Amino acid sequence: PPYMSVQRVQKIYETAGGAVEAVSLADFTVTSGEFVAVLGPSGCGKSTLMMMIGGLEPTSAGRIRVDGAEITGPRADFGYIFQDATLLPWKSVLDNVLFPIKLEHGRTRDHLERARELLELVGLWDFRDKRPRQLSGGMRQRVAICRGLINDPKLLLMDEPFSALDAISRDDMNAALADLWDRYHKTAIFITHSIREAVYLADRVLVMSRRPSVISHDVRIPFQRP
Ligand code: ADP
Ligand code: ADP
Repeated sequence: PPYMSVQRVQKIYETAGGAVEAVSLADFTVTSGEFVAVLGPSGCGKSTLMMMIGGLEPTSAGRIRVDGAEITGPRADFGYIFQDATLLPWKSVLDNVLFPIKLEHGRTRDHLERARELLELVGLWDFRDKRPRQLSGGMRQRVAICRGLINDPKLLLMDEPFSALDAISRDDMNAALADLWDRYHKTAIFITHSIREAVYLADRVLVMSRRPSVISHDVRIPFQRP
C-alpha cells in the first residue's frame, strides 16, 4: 500500500457568508521518501489540503491515511513548518529547536546532538544562546526548520515556509533545506506558489487549480540535485 493516501477528499468551510468550497476533490497517493511540492495560485486550497493532511482541519468528505492509520488529529510524529516562524521569544534558539522534544518525551543527549547537527547544517550553532528577536527573518526561519526536524518526523509538512523572505534569503533557505533533505530523506509535502522552488526541491509536483479546486497536474521531476 502507498505510504500516504488522500482519498476523494473535499473541504467546505461554513461561514457567515455561506459555504466556501476550499477543496473540491483531492485524490492521490504518496510513496515513502517522496518530496512532493503542491503548487497553485493563491486561494486554490493548498493550505487547506495541508491542514487536513496534518490533522489540523477535519475533511468534509473522503479520508486521509498515513502509514496505515487514518488521520484524525495532529500527530507528534509529524513535523510542521509554517509561513511565519512562531518561535517562543523568551526562549533561546536551542530551546526553541528542542521545544517539541520537551513536550513529548523529555530531552536526551541524542536530542542535543541532533539539535547541534541541525543548527550546524543551517549555520546557526553559534547563535544557539540568542533570543529570536536578535536574529534576522531568514535566521528565524532556519531555526523553525530545525525545530520541524528535531523529532525525526516521518512526515514533514511545510506551508510556504520561505514566503516571508526576500529572494536571496529564499535561495539560501532552499539550499539549506535541500542539504537537510539529502541527509535525512523523509517524506515531505511542500506548499509553494513558486514554480522555481517546487522544481528545485521536489521530485514530484502536484498542481492545484482554483475553480474547481482539484489537482490538475501530477508531474514527476526527473532532475537530481548534484
Ligand atoms: P491557498 O493555501 O491555496 O492560498 P487556502 O486553503 O488558504 O488556499 O484557501 C482556499 C479557500 O478557502 C479560499 O477561498 C479561502 O478564502 C477559503 N478559506 C481558507 N480558510 C478558511 C476558513 N478558515 N474559513 C473560511 N474560508 C476559508
Ligand atoms: P533575512 O531573510 O532577514 O535577510 P538572512 O538569513 O539572509 O536573513 O540573514 C541576514 C543577515 O543576518 C546576514 O546578512 C548576516 O549578517 C546575518 N546572518 C545570517 N546568518 C548568519 C550566520 N550563520 N552567521 C552570521 N551571520 C549571519
